Amino acid sequence: MSMLPESTPGPAISWAHRIITDHAEGRGCAECRARWCPTAEWALWVVVTDHLPPPGDDGKRLVTTVARQVLTNHWPYGVDGCRPCALPDCTRIQVATCWLQAVRDDYLPPAVQALRPTVVPTDEELRRITGLE
Ligand SMILES: [Zn+2]
Ligand SMILES: [Zn+2]
Repeated sequence: MSMLPESTPGPAISWAHRIITDHAEGRGCAECRARWCPTAEWALWVVVTDHLPPPGDDGKRLVTTVARQVLTNHWPYGVDGCRPCALPDCTRIQVATCWLQAVRDDYLPPAVQALRPTVVPTDEELRRITGLE
């Protein structure tokens, strides 16, 4: 994927909003990997750094859903750091945590509770992660 230059915040932010919505509602994108997505992480970074969630009553909830997904996918399982980046100091986690703190969401990934790196979320856990009833 290609990064849009920072000098074009208009197109970048509307693109980010579309990506956030697609991932929050489970459609994903062509860049989606098995457990994470670089495009969704880029979109979350744009939204958080610009402080611009998608418009409408649902906008913040959509961002929160994607932030929870990113936190779940990158949560460090050991001393080697998170799994997709293998970094002890993962910037994706920092961006996701920044948003969740801003909206006062005290979400903890199920992996932390399960303490099993290979655990696959059940449908019930996924509903809890996404906040959808
Ligand atoms: Zn994706
Ligand atoms: Zn990471």
